[in-house]
Amino acid sequence: MNQIRLFALLLVMTLLLTSAGLAFADELVVYSARNEQLIKPLFDAYTEKTGTKITYVTDKAGPLLQRLKSEGKNTRADLLITVDAGNLWHAAEEGVLRAVDSPALGANVPDHLKDPNNRWFGLSLRARTIVYSTERVTPEELSSYEALGEPQWENRLLLRTSKKVYNQSLVAMLIAEHGKEKAEQIVRAWVGNLAAAPFSNDTKTMEAILAGQGDVAIVNTYYFGRMLKKDPNLKLALYWPNQGSTGVHVNVSGAGVTKHAKNPDAAVKLLEWLSSEEAQNLFADGNMEYPVNPRVEAHEYVKAWGDFKASGQNLASAGMLQKAAIKLMDRSDYR
Ligand code: FE
Repeated sequence: MNQIRLFALLLVMTLLLTSAGLAFADELVVYSARNEQLIKPLFDAYTEKTGTKITYVTDKAGPLLQRLKSEGKNTRADLLITVDAGNLWHAAEEGVLRAVDSPALGANVPDHLKDPNNRWFGLSLRARTIVYSTERVTPEELSSYEALGEPQWENRLLLRTSKKVYNQSLVAMLIAEHGKEKAEQIVRAWVGNLAAAPFSNDTKTMEAILAGQGDVAIVNTYYFGRMLKKDPNLKLALYWPNQGSTGVHVNVSGAGVTKHAKNPDAAVKLLEWLSSEEAQNLFADGNMEYPVNPRVEAHEYVKAWGDFKASGQNLASAGMLQKAAIKLMDRSDYR
């Protein structure tokens, strides 16, 4: 009798341990080009909700892709998070991402913000738009990206360097919209209107407007948001161009499940959650970006910059036309 009870007890204990073990079996490794400050709160929330343990490595987009390539099938990474569709497309082309079949992701991420072959998905949206000096420009003078090449902006336009993927994607999308010839005319006209050599980042470009070096520029909205948070009386404002035509240029930060993921199912679940109503504000608000999920609203602070019509061009073009964009900018003396 005692032996039977002991056996039963052991059996129950084994079952308990096994089920506990199963419930906490999921462990994920994420390579992230987004900084720890942004991703840690998200991962903590996910671990609390699901028990899935997440380890992460943060670095710049280039080194992370190199690392994935050189690690090959020995990589520990299950998910790659990075910024800009150009970078995501490049990772997919390099063969480090896998196609994911997920109805949830299909419903949460609009088609033009994801890879047509489902290897990467946008998770937050940023607009690359016009910013102007409120002291020297009125919004009535502005209309489109193309018009920044007109004579009225001679010696007044400021741009960030063409080496940055954000501008390579912007020009790639101009090629997608207008064709190479017209896109080159636009870029050449911009270069002709430059008031200073291109700057190394968006913040420096806006600081140059404040310093009077120029009057208008093209920047990502969240950099403007950061400056506005530091100085509520900032003498800059955003302008939404191309509202009667192609719409504002947008890009994404996003993610894809790695080709050699050890835990692909759990990685898909995390990706689905990141695109869900529950997580989208956590993901977007931390960097003053817009949710990609159309059922989720942007943070009040971001919404205060106004509504706009965004470009509906598929962002895969940013990658497919990246090389053509780089050559075009080089030919146009855009440094
Ligand atoms: Fe950025």
